Amino acid sequence: MSDLKNLHHWEVLAVSCIDGRFIKKTIEWLALQTGGVFDYRTEVGATKAIIDCEADLDSCCNVIATSLKLHSIKQLYLIDHIDCGAYGGSKDFANKDEEKKFHTERLDKAAEILTERYPNIIIKKVFADWDEIKFV
Ligand SMILES: [Zn+2]
Repeated sequence: MSDLKNLHHWEVLAVSCIDGRFIKKTIEWLALQTGGVFDYRTEVGATKAIIDCEADLDSCCNVIATSLKLHSIKQLYLIDHIDCGAYGGSKDFANKDEEKKFHTERLDKAAEILTERYPNIIIKKVFADWDEIKFV
């Protein structure tokens, strides 16, 4: 752990929804993916904040810029999840496939917006389901 004192640069900033049901499993998954060191930001609805709210996008971009400046991050993990209240929840979709398809499209759109602002950061799209978290 003392090595962490001298560690200043790492690869990943993750942006997920604020939904408390997914925080623990998301953090555990991120720790496995990254070796345990990453920056982490929550936004209501994750992709929804980036696509639908300019103030949230600006706020998120301030964090990305700081993460880049202080920690030289190379990748941004963008994480949407199943039954997201910001998007109305699972009840607003005909079935799980429709819900996943919707989130995949939102992840694509949000990644496009962020790539325009930060062309040198690799955006990785992630979907958190009840039983697993996966890159999409
Ligand atoms: Zn959510």
